[in-house]
Amino acid sequence: MAVPISHPFAGPDCTGWHQTLDALVDGEAGSLCSARAEAHAAECPACARRLAAAHAYKRALRRAGDAERAPIELRESVMASLRGVRRSRTP
Ligand SMILES: [Zn+2]
Repeated sequence: MAVPISHPFAGPDCTGWHQTLDALVDGEAGSLCSARAEAHAAECPACARRLAAAHAYKRALRRAGDAERAPIELRESVMASLRGVRRSRTP
């Protein structure tokens, strides 16, 4: 597989680090793996950028998740209309 031009420092051995770096960001890498991956990223600009991008992506996902939560006013109006429906159905 060809190394992208925007990734000039990536050596052929870096592909092996990518999975570990992704697992590190997901909190799925063991502590030994995390330490080794962080040490590698400290010496490898390409992997450092990948790690930073993965962290930024993760943060963006979390923000998107927060934004999708319905505002409390909407929730209350939905609950109120549900109560209204239930009340109108019972005799
Ligand atoms: Zn690397």
